[in-house]
Amino acid sequence: MSDTRVVVVGAGPAGMRACAALVAAGLTPILIDEAARSGGRIYQQPPQGAARPGRELYGFEAAKAARIHALEAQLAGRIDHRRETLVWNCFEDALDLLGPSGPSRQPFDALILATGATDLALPFPGWTLPGVYALGGAQIALKTQGCGIGRRVVFLGAGPLLPLVAWQYVQAGADVAAVLDATPFAAKLRGLPNMLFAPATLAKGAYYVARLLAAGVPMAWGVGGPRAEGDGRVERVHFVTAGGDARVVACDALGASFGLRSETQLADLAGCDFVFDRRTRQYVPARDVAGRTSRRFVYVAGDGAGIGGADAAELAGERAALALAEDLGLPVDVNRAAFLDGRLARLDRFRRGLETAYPFPAHLLRDIGDDTMLCRCEGIAVGALRAAARDKGAPELNRAKAFTRIGMGRCQGRMCGRAAAELLAAARGEDLARAGRLRGQPPVKPIPMIPELLS
Ligand SMILES: Cc1cc2nc3c(=O)[nH]c(=O)nc-3n(C[C@H](O)[C@H](O)[C@H](O)COP(=O)(O)OP(=O)(O)OC[C@H]3O[C@@H](n4cnc5c(N)ncnc54)[C@H](O)[C@@H]3O)c2cc1C
Repeated sequence: MSDTRVVVVGAGPAGMRACAALVAAGLTPILIDEAARSGGRIYQQPPQGAARPGRELYGFEAAKAARIHALEAQLAGRIDHRRETLVWNCFEDALDLLGPSGPSRQPFDALILATGATDLALPFPGWTLPGVYALGGAQIALKTQGCGIGRRVVFLGAGPLLPLVAWQYVQAGADVAAVLDATPFAAKLRGLPNMLFAPATLAKGAYYVARLLAAGVPMAWGVGGPRAEGDGRVERVHFVTAGGDARVVACDALGASFGLRSETQLADLAGCDFVFDRRTRQYVPARDVAGRTSRRFVYVAGDGAGIGGADAAELAGERAALALAEDLGLPVDVNRAAFLDGRLARLDRFRRGLETAYPFPAHLLRDIGDDTMLCRCEGIAVGALRAAARDKGAPELNRAKAFTRIGMGRCQGRMCGRAAAELLAAARGEDLARAGRLRGQPPVKPIPMIPELLS
């Protein structure tokens, strides 16, 4: 069994826990991540030699971060960890890689995709100005590089990362000029009953908001009409309060995003079936509770399988590894599998509460003008997509892509695809699921032109 080629993509909480369980089952997984160090997004580490105290980097989550980082050392020699290696394609039973020693191909017998998530970007006037960053990106700059995106920062968004990142900036000494939540305050109360399924996490969220208010940071809920303006870079943010008043706040940087979106392209290229997840308004790989996809011996875990958060990612990574071991005919602790299923179900209830507390801010897209940039790689404005939907009859995203080039640039629609689906469905007056999703295309992330790849 030890010659079974098991590959795990992603060294975040899901991938690391999957590796630990695979090793415990007697396997020697190959762990591939484009990052130099383990931890994924939430527990992302500063570069080697630039360590800072865990409490400063990860706050309440410092102990969990330390446990995940310690796994890297514990598993050394028992896994084949390929660092700084991008998986840019999956074709049949092999992955195409680009690592420090150049391109290569890695065949697999079984594959766990634990590829995580990225910020969900939505277009608004001025979102492509210099000085406007993704909210999670603003946090990563602080966490890994020890620098902020600006001195006087506005944060805009719709998700639990919003108060967390704002509070981390206050602690780092930044002047947080405003925290603008696009979701209504009343939604938080509606989400409360289900959020009580993870009371500690709920308490942390409430703590961040309370500390921001106590620090005198201006906060607003249910905002609309955001617009970033400035001469050459962002200098102010306009918005409309829930009560309908127009406001403007001066700043030298803006961190904005509206939730998370799963990184699913590799599952797509692996040939997995997808289903529409109404809760998070996105297509995700179809899977059973253990992470088995429609393709035999291909599994998904963590935020790449659907947004669930870091604690769920750890559990799901281990659960997928147990499923893989079981499918290979290895002995599996069924009690542990049942325990993981129970914990995951509980966290799923919490996640349901979070989605209620932070509903998708559809009003932001409804209100934007045709001239707002949608696809920044190809320079396509919102109006082009609306015209493709209304005048050219594009029924779904891939057809709209052919008409407009939306999603055809460097990011392959990873940044604009979700917004484009929402706009297309709205323009056609149809259910969001009918807008479909952009088909995954290699390379899933930009790669340099390398002669070996062209031959
Ligand atoms: C920018 C950002 C910041 C976040 N900060 C927080 C936070 O502070 N608190 C919180 O509770 N949640 C945070 N989240 C959400 C949190 O990241 C997740 O809930 C959790 O990390 C999910 O764990 P995971 O293992 O599924 O994925 P991740 O932790 O995202 O790990 C995925 C790993 O896969 C690797 N990967 C992906 N695609 C490829 C590829 N093609 N080739 C090679 N490697 C690949 C990535 O480099 C990454 O290391 C954040 C999310 C983002 C996007």
